[in-house]
Order: sequence, then C-alpha cells, then structure tokens
Amino acid sequence: MARIYGSERRVLVTGGAGFLGSHLIDRLLDKGCEVVCVDNLFTGAKRNLYHLSGHPRFEFIRHDVTFPLYLEVDEIYNLACPASPIHYQHDPVATTKTSVHGAINMLGLAKRLRCKILQASTSEVYGDPAVHPQTEDYWGNVNPIGPRSCYDEGKRCAETLFFDYHRQHGLEIKVARIFNTYGPRMHPADGRVVSNFIMQALRGEPITIYGEGQQTRSFCYVDDLVDGLMRLMDTGPEITGPINIGNPGEFTMRQLADQVLALTGSMSPIEHRPLPPDDPRQRQPDITLATRVLGWTPKVSLAEGLKSTIDYFAGAYAS
Ligand code: NAD
Ligand code: UDP
Ligand code: UDP
Repeated sequence: MARIYGSERRVLVTGGAGFLGSHLIDRLLDKGCEVVCVDNLFTGAKRNLYHLSGHPRFEFIRHDVTFPLYLEVDEIYNLACPASPIHYQHDPVATTKTSVHGAINMLGLAKRLRCKILQASTSEVYGDPAVHPQTEDYWGNVNPIGPRSCYDEGKRCAETLFFDYHRQHGLEIKVARIFNTYGPRMHPADGRVVSNFIMQALRGEPITIYGEGQQTRSFCYVDDLVDGLMRLMDTGPEITGPINIGNPGEFTMRQLADQVLALTGSMSPIEHRPLPPDDPRQRQPDITLATRVLGWTPKVSLAEGLKSTIDYFAGAYAS
C-alpha cells in the first residue's frame, strides 16, 4: 500500500545483521534513510545492531528470504547469504536456496514495487581465475560440483536471475561483484582469513596458513566497500553492472600473516595446514569500470584497515 506520511527513502537491507549489512545500515541511517533490516540470524547477530535499538528510522524483521516477503520499500540491497566458507558449507543446500530462492523472492518484491534492487554478488563467480586481474567480462573457471559450488554457483544463478528480470520485466538492477572485504564486526569464528589471523595473533595461538601461503587475495576495508555499494545504487537505470568492487592491493597469505604479526606485536608461530579443495590460487579485481562509472577507488590501505580491525577484535573478544 502506498505510504501517506513520510518522505524519507525507505530501504530494505537483507542480511543486515551480518558484517557488511550492519555497516551499510549505519551509513544509510546517517544519510537520513528509513531502513528495514531482514535477517534470519543464521550467521548474523543482533549484537551488530544493538546500537540501533530504539532508532526511530530503523526496523528489524526476523525472516528467511527463501520465503516470500511482502512489504513496501523504495530500494532493496540483497545481502542475505552466508559468506565465509565454513558457514556456507555447513548446510550447502540451504546456501543455494538462499541465493536462488532468496533472489527470486527479492526480485518478485522489486517487480511488484517497481523499485531498484542491488545484488551482493562475489568474486567467487570467477572461481579459480585463469584471467588475472579479473575483469567483469571474464566468465570464470568454476567447479559446479565441489564443496564451494553451493556458494559460487548459487551466486552465479542469482546473477542470471537478476539479468533475466531486467531483460524480461524491465527491472532496474545493480550487480556488485564484491572481493574479499574485512573490518570490525566480522564474526571472530567464521573461519575467514583476516579474522582467523587476528584472533590467533591476539591469543598467542599458531597462525594457520593453509598450503604454502603463496595463494593471493586482495582485501578491501569495509568502509570503502560500503561506499562503493551506495554509489552503485545511486547510478541511473542504464548502469546494471556487473561491476567489481574491491581493493586491487594483492597479498599472499604469508604476507598477510606477517603484517598481522607485526601490527599486533604477537609472538605466535606460523603453522601450515592442508589447502582446502578448490581454493582459488589468485584473486585481484580490475576496478577500471568502478572508477570510471562510480568515480570510486578504495581509500584505506591494508595496514590502516588491519589496525582498526585489530583494535575492534582486541576490544570485543580478546581474553
Ligand atoms: P555475513 O555472514 O556476516 O552476513 C550475511 C547475513 O545474511 C547474516 O546476517 C545472515 O544471518 C543473513 N542470512 C543468511 N541466510 C539468510 C536467509 N536465508 N534469510 C535471511 N538472512 C539470511 O556475511 P557478509 O560478509 O556480511 O556478506 C554479506 C553479503 O556480501 C553476502 O551476500 C556475501 O555473499 C557477499 N559478499 C561478501 C564478501 C566479503 O568478503 N565479506 C565478499 C563477496 C561477497
Ligand atoms: N514475491 C514476494 N514479495 C512480493 C512479490 C513477490 O516475496 O511482494 C515472491 C513470490 O514468492 C513470487 C516470487 O517473489 O513467487 C517471484 O515473483 P514474480 O512476480 O516474479 O513471479 P510469480 O509470482 O509469477 O511466481
Ligand atoms: N586461509 C588461511 N588460513 C586461515 C583461513 C584461510 O591460509 O586460517 C586462506 C584460504 O585457504 C584462502 C585465503 O586464506 O586461500 C582466503 O580465505 P577466506 O576463507 O578468507 O576467503 P575466500 O577463500 O573465500 O577468498
């Protein structure tokens, strides 16, 4: 039903109790938007939203996006999906359902409301990439039947659905391919490399490097990432993406471990563990398109971002 009162933009953020979603919500509220957060708290936490309790423009709905959702909003950011390998492999069928059924429901909602919808896609659509750095026109190198496939193929199918709703129903879509992002409010036990290394360093436990540690990733600080997503949402209808959002600074896992050790002053030893199957060997975004279309480049260096993240983990979790 059309609203009678209230002129603020009302924005739906699915997955808003998670790491990226909670930062996005903070920024949208700062801009004066009304925000509705929909989350089933599978990997997210109310703790990430405590500071918003009682906020007059914020609302939380506990809901699983694999089921239909009827509400009235002006824009949708679709972030609901577990993102860390141990979380998305915990119940792989649910992961695919979240990406695929969740996308169908959120696209159906956007179609009824005739509103813009942004998809949090991922660099995982490139799989173990044979093209380096990755440009948006690269179709990827993805195993369809491995342990990472529920996430990679689910996200690829979601992109397909976004583009089919765009072509078939004229929906205004925005597809962001997010590269590894880190920062405060990552779950300390979600197994991702930045949170693992920081928690291990702070506790004086061994730093677990999988394989030889020569595989690379490019790490984007959360504030930069959120800025990129919001700029993408604010583009005109001719901009659909897919568009890479990430920091091109590329590091081996060994280099990351060394930086974390230096910044924490920890004496933790390095311990090598087996490399998980299908672990991509290299990853680096080509952000030429984001720079041209969004006027966006990341501002926070790995050293600066790690410092803030270490401070957060030290305050929130270290014993
Ligand atoms: P996260 O796990 O912290 O957040 C995901 C949120 O989605 C959680 O709050 C979780 O409870 C919620 N959720 C999961 N399944 C749901 C369902 N069926 N219904 C409703 N809510 C559900 O992860 P994140 O790092 O904040 O990632 C957010 C989004 O960004 C994800 O879609 C992820 O695939 C994408 N992404 C993240 C990264 C990264 O490096 N952080 C990289 C690429 C893509
Ligand atoms: N949907 C929803 N909220 C809405 C409208 C639709 O959750 O406000 C869901 C509903 O479950 C539907 C799906 O989105 O099945 C896809 O909607 P669409 O209109 O594309 O397809 P249809 O209704 O024809 O299946
Ligand atoms: N990794 C590692 N030690 C850890 C956790 C991860 O060496 O304790 C490696 C992992 O094998 C991968 C990289 O770090 O090569 C990034 O892993 P993450 O799970 O953070 O993200 P993704 O693989 O999805 O990019």
